[in-house]
Amino acid sequence: MRYRICTSLVFTKDSHLKREYDAIVIGLGAMGSAAAYQLTKRGAKVLGLDRYAPPHRFGSTHGETRITRIACGEGLEYTPLAVRSNELWRQIERETGASLITQNGFASIAGKKRAAKAGNAEFLEVTIAAAKAAGIEYEILDGKNFRRRFPAFNVKDGDAVYFDRVGGFLRPEICVETQLRLAREKGAELRLNERALSFEETGGAVSVKTAAGEYSAQTLIISAGPWLPELIDAKLMPGLKVTRQIVCWFRVKDTARFEDFQPARFPVFVWQVPAAQISYGFPALGGPADGVKISTEQYDVAVDPENMERTVSPTESRALYEEYVEHYFPGLSAECVRSDVCLYTSVPGSRFVIDRHPAHRRTIVVSPCSGHGFKHSAAIGEAAAQMALGEPHLDLSEFRFRT
Ligand SMILES: Cc1cc2nc3c(=O)[nH]c(=O)nc-3n(C[C@H](O)[C@H](O)[C@H](O)COP(=O)(O)OP(=O)(O)OC[C@H]3O[C@@H](n4cnc5c(N)ncnc54)[C@H](O)[C@@H]3O)c2cc1C
Repeated sequence: MRYRICTSLVFTKDSHLKREYDAIVIGLGAMGSAAAYQLTKRGAKVLGLDRYAPPHRFGSTHGETRITRIACGEGLEYTPLAVRSNELWRQIERETGASLITQNGFASIAGKKRAAKAGNAEFLEVTIAAAKAAGIEYEILDGKNFRRRFPAFNVKDGDAVYFDRVGGFLRPEICVETQLRLAREKGAELRLNERALSFEETGGAVSVKTAAGEYSAQTLIISAGPWLPELIDAKLMPGLKVTRQIVCWFRVKDTARFEDFQPARFPVFVWQVPAAQISYGFPALGGPADGVKISTEQYDVAVDPENMERTVSPTESRALYEEYVEHYFPGLSAECVRSDVCLYTSVPGSRFVIDRHPAHRRTIVVSPCSGHGFKHSAAIGEAAAQMALGEPHLDLSEFRFRT
């Protein structure tokens, strides 16, 4: 038997205090910070739980920058999320004065002998189709013209380049920090360094247990990033894999050419090089000694987020430089001035899953989005909040569980 003593506290029969909310969000990274903010903006009473204190370096949302693009080479179904996210990033910037997004241009480059077996082999073609469908302005350039405008890139004459001016980069840590601050200001209770151990749906509510207590709400959003497999049955997301990614910042060789690496002359890029993986990168955001961030993607070796190597070895940064940087950016030296390890959590086809749990209808699962979710996270958080509160939201039918 349960006795209600006020709107927010109940005693269970074994006398444990149970706090009640409209919504609980487990995981306050990219997706969860956006969801918590959007819920509180709509007047909901929200509890946010995180096992660490975001923004932190243990999950998928750190490392200074994330590419944003409206034309997504991963598929046309992602465009509405990117468009809406950009509106939301700009709204938050106006509300807070924070600098979240820079639209300095996006280039999708396909070398003649592109291999890129790790990603979508048709990335360039799908990007063009997505740009057409979205009605954004873009150019198709040959290597020579692209090099003339963006001299740091050693693109071959015969390579094909898609370029638009709406792409650019986001600052993930500032996005998370700002949305959590707004959520807190609007009344969310954020319990950091408190890990959710389990959840259960009974008696018209969902309850979440942590080591510190038990909480109850009308709805639950699970956005636990690479730790998602701890909370949901593996059968729900066949092929789910957490993979370790490395990113490195390489020093600019000649300070007289530093301008070539700054945002006005160096768009964010995805490059289908003649190698096993694609490469991608960002302009220099500091000085020449702070380096230029370049990375690739690997999907082969799975890791456990609680038990993995979190530093990049000199051998790894050297291999990245030799295969993906040296030839393509001759102005960058092999000196890796900074590095980071981050996690992709992917399902086959690099799909997103944003859906109600098939067995627990008060619970919404927001997947970590297969290594390309950050740019969409503001809109995903909004849609998850709207779904939780029974409001209309963007069409998410492409992102249902497929078991
Ligand atoms: C190297 C790298 C480069 C990327 N580049 C891009 C890019 O250029 N553009 C792009 O759009 N996307 C990119 N992505 C993907 C994007 O960053 C992710 O899709 C996104 O950050 C995932 O966010 P998330 O909220 O799911 O995970 P996270 O931000 O990791 O958040 C999960 C949170 O859940 C918490 N948590 C976990 N378990 C529990 C628990 N039991 N109880 C309480 N809290 C818990 C964690 O502490 C964490 O804070 C990249 C990812 C990586 C790793």
